[in-house]
Amino acid sequence: MSEVFRSLPSVDIVLRRLGGTGEGAAPPRSVAVRATREVLATAREAVRRGELPPPPDEIERRVRRRLEEWRHPQLRRVINATGVVLHTNLGRAPLSKAALEAMLTLASGYSNLEFDLARGERGSRQSILATLLRDLLGVEGAIVVNNNASAVLLALAALARGRDVLVSRGQLVEIGGGFRIPDVLNQSGARLVEVGTTNRTYAEDYDAACTPETAAILRVHPSNFAQQGFVHQPSLVELVDIARRRNVLIIDDLGSGALLDTARYGLAHEPMVQESLAAGVDAVCFSGDKLLGGPQCGVVVGARSPVQEMRRHPLARAVRIDKASLAALEVTLRHYLWDEAEMLVPVWWMISRSLEELTTRARAWQQILLGQGVPAELLPGRSTIGGGSLPGETLPTTLVALTGTRVDVLAAALRGGSPAVAARIQDERLLIDPRTVLPEENGALVACVVAAWQQTLE
Ligand SMILES: *Cc1c(COP(=O)(O)O)cnc(C)c1O
Repeated sequence: MSEVFRSLPSVDIVLRRLGGTGEGAAPPRSVAVRATREVLATAREAVRRGELPPPPDEIERRVRRRLEEWRHPQLRRVINATGVVLHTNLGRAPLSKAALEAMLTLASGYSNLEFDLARGERGSRQSILATLLRDLLGVEGAIVVNNNASAVLLALAALARGRDVLVSRGQLVEIGGGFRIPDVLNQSGARLVEVGTTNRTYAEDYDAACTPETAAILRVHPSNFAQQGFVHQPSLVELVDIARRRNVLIIDDLGSGALLDTARYGLAHEPMVQESLAAGVDAVCFSGDKLLGGPQCGVVVGARSPVQEMRRHPLARAVRIDKASLAALEVTLRHYLWDEAEMLVPVWWMISRSLEELTTRARAWQQILLGQGVPAELLPGRSTIGGGSLPGETLPTTLVALTGTRVDVLAAALRGGSPAVAARIQDERLLIDPRTVLPEENGALVACVVAAWQQTLE
């Protein structure tokens, strides 16, 4: 046995081999030693299990690969050619250029994050955003936190802990990633009181369930599914009316929280933040990185006093927003205030592209691909919104379709490229949707497709 172990090279020998033939800057010696020790330990483990010792050049290859893995970030740019605008697995909303610049500026130096420059005193990271949201939406109060899940948790904890919260049985939803409304309520310390049935809940059901123990009515937008047929939910106006008469709060978890009307783009109407506010909701919670098109964060807007309660609650600190996200959110909201969101916020730019424009882009890609020997066809298709909003709703698009090779191999080659490309496979075809490809990604996309195609021929 020891004979076999001895055939493995020593750390010094591996290091010498690495030094001679490496490309680029050599890794620090300490790092190379660590990688080598790790690879040798794994090899010894395998030998102990009865495998043959790998030859020295194999050891060297493994060490190099380990060093490569350590050197390069594994979070990478992906071109989204799936046509799913808010692709949760691909990081949801891409940010506007201005929002990115603001992030960079704030994160690369110091800032007035919690410093009032006019008075030279300590300030609040919430105050600039609260003023901006007031100007944009006319609200008395606003607080921004880490994401919408924490916004809802904080609202319930601060406003209803130890008391009852009424929720329709049709709205006890799972958003995904383990976010289930009954569990969140439980975590907040509030008590869930279910009202109505799965398919039908009436205003009277809420009214009848109100007791002196009731703190709030929670309305949850069923973002990621649609009910059809014999269904009923009371309008927000009816719920607000009950809440006022019964002296309880009304909290609205909007999920996506659109500030622009999706119906203008041929989609179903996604509930808008402005509508909830106009109905008189006390606290409206929505996501920053869904249809708002900003960074991951959660926004709560509404009446002064519930928002104050939330700000003062100890959980507020636990779920606070970081400075880079705050910077991006501010600039994203200013795009709406300046009425330039449709062009500058990427998700709205994508949603608002016409079929003609998409066809023109697809045709241009097709021409280049054909010129490079890649047999690309054009097909009519549909893009979706995704991100748990507007389920089943689609927008017309023109797809570039690739066939005539193993499409799963082609898709894998695209994912392995730099940048990686995510595409759709349907009916033995690889489909590329221009809607979700940013204009500055045009060149890279075509180059990646050509490279991946050539790889599948090898
Ligand atoms: C997406 C969603 C959430 C969670 O929002 P995140 O920003 O992802 O934390 C909560 N409620 C509803 C209704 C949603 O659609």
